[in-house]
Amino acid sequence: MSARIVLLGPPGAGKGTQAARLAGELGVEAISTGDIFRANIKGGTELGRLAQEYTAKGELVPDSVTNAMVKDKLVSMVGEEPNHLGFILDGYPRNTAQVAELDAILEEIGVTLDGAVEITADPEVVIERLLKRADIEGRADDTEPVIRHRLGVYAEQTAPVSGVYRDRERLVQVDGIGDVEDVTARLIKSLEQFG
Ligand code: ADP
Repeated sequence: MSARIVLLGPPGAGKGTQAARLAGELGVEAISTGDIFRANIKGGTELGRLAQEYTAKGELVPDSVTNAMVKDKLVSMVGEEPNHLGFILDGYPRNTAQVAELDAILEEIGVTLDGAVEITADPEVVIERLLKRADIEGRADDTEPVIRHRLGVYAEQTAPVSGVYRDRERLVQVDGIGDVEDVTARLIKSLEQFG
């Protein structure tokens, strides 16, 4: 058995940082849709050109594009023993249609999800963190108007994703405020709830 987790939380909650740390601790791969898009934008690929149009505005990339990308990735990772597959999905699913698609992909490859872990953080704290990161990393979508738009898209489209996993009794919530190490420890502890 291996960990198969969806990591949820608002922009700026620390998903990317924690996905990488969790992946290291658990010995599984972190799959970040945002990172894949950014790598493609940097590499000037066709996918990158398309993704750029949406990410720069803080809009979601169309589901057809994102779903196909995640499917390709998971299909390429699964081996002879589907349940040996481990992963942490960071940034996907990001709306309820993507939840349905993830369900279909996992069913097709014969893999079950442990559940979803949501990192919670106060909106004021996340805006502050993102603006600080803007200075350091210079991400194109970390300007204040785009950050506000991303938070709006999150509230409207992504927040309902937590509800889907909650209804399935497959959601744990973890406080994302505090030292990076402490949050990682909380996340690892929270996984015990999936049994
Ligand atoms: P953040 O969580 O801080 O907004 P990400 O790196 O996860 O940052 O995502 C950056 C951008 O990439 C999003 O604003 C969106 O445009 C695009 N993106 C990432 N994941 C998805 C997804 N699952 N579906 C659609 N668009 C996505």
